[in-house]
Formats: sequence, C-alpha cells, structure tokens
Amino acid sequence: MKRRNVLKSLSILPFTGALAARASSKNILTEVAAAPKRDLFEELGVTPVINASVTMTFLSGSLMLPEVLEAINSTAHDFANMYELQDKVGGKIAEMLNVEAAMVTSGAACAMLLGTAACITGTDAEKIKMLPNLPGPRPEVIMQKSHRYLFDQAISTTGAKIMEVEGADEMAKAINSNTVMALFFNAAEKSSITHQDFLKVAKAKKIPTFLDAAADVPPVENLFKFQKMGFDLVTFSGGKMMRGPQSAGLLFGRKDLITAARLNHSPHEAPIGRPMKVNKEEMFGMYAALKSYLERDHKKEWADWLQRTKTIGAKLETLPSVKTKTVVDPGPANAFPSLFASWDKAKIGTSPREVVKALKDGTPSIVANDKGDSLVIGVVLLRPDQIDVVAGRVKEILQKAVIA
Ligand SMILES: *Cc1c(COP(=O)(O)O)cnc(C)c1O
Repeated sequence: MKRRNVLKSLSILPFTGALAARASSKNILTEVAAAPKRDLFEELGVTPVINASVTMTFLSGSLMLPEVLEAINSTAHDFANMYELQDKVGGKIAEMLNVEAAMVTSGAACAMLLGTAACITGTDAEKIKMLPNLPGPRPEVIMQKSHRYLFDQAISTTGAKIMEVEGADEMAKAINSNTVMALFFNAAEKSSITHQDFLKVAKAKKIPTFLDAAADVPPVENLFKFQKMGFDLVTFSGGKMMRGPQSAGLLFGRKDLITAARLNHSPHEAPIGRPMKVNKEEMFGMYAALKSYLERDHKKEWADWLQRTKTIGAKLETLPSVKTKTVVDPGPANAFPSLFASWDKAKIGTSPREVVKALKDGTPSIVANDKGDSLVIGVVLLRPDQIDVVAGRVKEILQKAVIA
C-alpha cells in the first residue's frame, strides 16, 4: 500500500483501540514511508528496457495502464466462479463493442485457435473432446496465399488444414464440405481478395469468417469496423496498444461461435483450449484496459505523440547535418507516428544501425530501429519521463561520432 493510501484508510477507519495501538506502535507510517521499494529487476538481474520501438512480443508487449493494474490488484483478494466471470466480462465487452458476444482469450493467437475450434466443433461435446484428433477428413480453413503468416499455426494446431487461394473465384471453388472457416489477415501487405469480396464469397457458401486485427488499433474505430462489415469473428491483442495484460486478447462476434469457443476453453476441460487459460485478474484487467481505451481522448493522445517527436527531433537537430521528420505508419498495424532521423555520414561518422546497437548496449538499454538511412525512434511506448532520456542518449551517441 502506498503511504498516501495508508493515510487515507487511517482517516476513514473508526479510531478503534487496536488501530490506535498500531498507529502509535513503532510506526505503521514511518515503516511504510521508509520501506525500500523491492526492485525485482535488480533482484533477478533483469535489464529494464526503454521501448523506443513498437509493441513486440519479445519485449513484453506493452506497459499496463494504472487502471489495469488497479483492476488486477483490487480483484486478487476474492475467489470468483470463472463461468460467471466469463459471462459477465464477455457480456459487458460485447455491449461495449456492439457485438452479439465476446470473450477474453490468452492473446490473439489463442483467439485464432479457439475461433477455429469453435467453427469445427460447434457445441458438440464429443467433437470438443476429440479435437485435434477428429476422425474423417481434416477440416479446412481458407486463406489467401499472400496472407500466410507466422500466426496461422494457431489455425493448424486444431488439426485444420489451410487451403491457399488467390482471387475470389479460386476462393469460391476451394470451398467444399470440409471447409469450416475463412481467415482474413487484416494487416497483410497484399490481398488478392478485398474484405468485401471475401465476405461475399464466404457468406454465399455459409462459411464463417474470421478477421485477425491483432495489432490494428489505433484507430479506435477499428474495434467496431469489422463486425459491422460482416465478419463473424474478430480478434485484437490485449497487450499491444490497448495496454492490457500481454497475455490477454479479445475474441468477439457471433454468439453461437463464441459459445462454442468458450466450450473449447478453460474452465471447461477441453483438450485444445485448456492449456490457454486466462486468469481471473487478467479478465478484469482486459475489461479495464478496453474500457479505458474506449474512453480515452484519442485526439489528445495523438497530439501528445506528435509533440514527442517534435521534442526529440528539435534536440537532435542541434547536431551538425541531422534532419528529422515525423512519419505516420499507414497501418493497419502500428498506425501511429514515429521520428525518423538521418544525417550526413561525412559530418557524423556512424550509421543508424550502429546507433541502434549503442542504444541497446547502453544504460539504460533503449530499443530503437533503423530503416534505410534513418534511425527510427518510436515514441508511443515511452513513459513521459523517458522522452528526454531517449533524446539525450541518441544525441550523446551522435555527438561522439561528430567528425571535427
Ligand atoms: C501480435 C499478433 C498476433 C498474436 O497476438 P497475441 O495477442 O500476442 O497472441 C496475431 N496476429 C497478428 C497480426 C499480430 O500482430
């Protein structure tokens, strides 16, 4: 408990004898105030990292918001019936996103697996028990060839086979009695079928559609866009720009499919989803993160990001030949501003790649990127107190390389 909170609870509690004894006994107050903060990074020798990049799984995703941590801490002291909690959290999230139903999954990858499982088994208890080893031909999931990516292994883990298609005609022809679902990777670089045509073909053949938009907020509107478009299931990661728990995610859409997905998940002892349990605190935390994200002033946040790039840029441009510009990634993933910095190698004798390495190896350790002739400094994941730290460190490294 923070000192402030101790004081607050002291002031609202009745001043009982026991409390008086505690308060006057050596020092409930001084003890709390003086208690050294336990630093688990230090205790375990883990290097804290400043993320001047984008949300990356290997870098622990995102930093949870205070209101998410509050949701986690404040719910940790009581048990809950997980069926009821899932009903209530899922119901509330569905209401917030204007969809029939929703659930919290252990990340978007889990949502892809559970969504596929739902399309394969429906609510059939026998099939749920057998997945991924169903008898008969393998279930098939349609994907565009150019949409194949690392995460589609979450689809094949269910036993389903991915059928690659190019163009709407090929998609229509590929659909057969084994087809259970069609997956659209929203941030794919190329598509041979538009969202609309994809939906049209799938709907004509009554095949459920799944959209993976894991990293596709901002803009916040994307949380509403794809269910409106007609996708039956949609997923977003919780631990990216929504700043929920890293291992949480959202799956939402058609009620019958969410019901089936839940039957394939914990606390149901379903073989396919049971190892992907989401704990009580993460469910509350994911709800709190979504609520906070929806209620945020996104214009203000965007303006703050732009200001960050200006602040860092201005500091770097005091060096010879350094030019900076704010670049907004067109998305759909990571659609936000970053700062690009470049310089004349005859004036500053180092490369963006070398600067990235020096930043990473320095103290504090800072993760940034390089792209072509530019150093790319991400600003959206910096804590406010880290903006000057990053600007200062980059400037220091470049300054050292200035050719006299
Ligand atoms: C991050 C990501 C995932 C996986 O999301 P998790 O929440 O980490 O499970 C899936 N698909 C895409 C496109 C992603 O960017």
